[in-house]
Amino acid sequence: MSDKNLHNVIIIGSGPAGLTAALYSARANLKPIVFEGLQPGGQLTITTDVENYPGFEHGIMGPELMDIMRKQAQRFGAECMFNIVDKVDFSSQPFKVYTDGKEYLAKTVIIATGASAKLLGLPSESEFMGFGVSACATCDGFFFKDQRIIVIGGGDTAMEEANYLTKFGKEVVIVHRRDEFRASKIMLERAQKNPKIKFMTNTVLEEVLGVNENGKRKVTGAKLKNVKTGETVIHEVEGIFLGIGHKPNTDIFKGQIELEDTGYIKTNKVNTYTNIPGVFACGDAQDHVYRQAVTAAGTGCMAAIDAERYLESLHD
Ligand code: NDP
Repeated sequence: MSDKNLHNVIIIGSGPAGLTAALYSARANLKPIVFEGLQPGGQLTITTDVENYPGFEHGIMGPELMDIMRKQAQRFGAECMFNIVDKVDFSSQPFKVYTDGKEYLAKTVIIATGASAKLLGLPSESEFMGFGVSACATCDGFFFKDQRIIVIGGGDTAMEEANYLTKFGKEVVIVHRRDEFRASKIMLERAQKNPKIKFMTNTVLEEVLGVNENGKRKVTGAKLKNVKTGETVIHEVEGIFLGIGHKPNTDIFKGQIELEDTGYIKTNKVNTYTNIPGVFACGDAQDHVYRQAVTAAGTGCMAAIDAERYLESLHD
């Protein structure tokens, strides 16, 4: 095996975690390769304004932020490739990463494949994503000051998002497909006690209604259907938040590293080590609690430093 084919670091994923890991490992002269994956730039590429990423006083568009992060990593020698990794083999060193029918070898692998918010799959939902439809209250709630909002879902995410959104919205209606809730009692009660929150149960979102004038899109309402009576109503709203859960993008790692039952990667809580020495995980693929761009970037930095130290320890 020639050294040319053996990489110090392969990073899988290109959201804030992956690209920060790329920046740090490139500056450590490790010449990382980044396989960008299905959604280059990650979840921020489907949001519009990002106002809570430190350093951008007046906010920045999500796709632009990710573009800058990529260029910053590339400036120090990171190689970003628009490939999707379909298989890995961590059973022995060097690790094997497969993409586009090719095998890449690495001494360390940083997993930064993120998570995806679950979506309903309606065409109108994707048309208005980032223009009134959102899957992240912390990211986008601020844009709905004094507006009418619905939150879809009946779990803890929906309750938490609805409570958070009452800081901004005029009214928040939780729309849930059943009349029993998966949410924990405490979270449900908190939402029920909040005077700004109303509930519509046995109800599903059939269509996002909105206008699209000269490329300017905005949500004007929601077509809701009562699943018991079949009755359909048009509910006027400006914001529709999806709180139906997240799925970590970790399917290809099943059987290769330890995962939680929910699919999130198990890491040491104090660093980014997985159960396989030399394989590190950062960002939303291992974090279902904070899920912020800045926390993902933070753990991406940690993973690069962990990988660098691990590589140094191989020389000892
Ligand atoms: P859950 O899977 O618990 O709940 C998802 C909810 O969305 C359910 O009510 C489900 O309905 C509904 N749903 C799913 N798919 C659809 C669909 N296609 N159409 C309509 N409704 C749908 O996910 P969460 O993200 O809420 O929670 C995940 C985990 O994270 C849980 O363990 C939770 O406790 C935890 N969490 C904890 C928080 C905290 O402690 N602060 C905050 C957020 C999450 P149905 O019930 O009918 O299946």
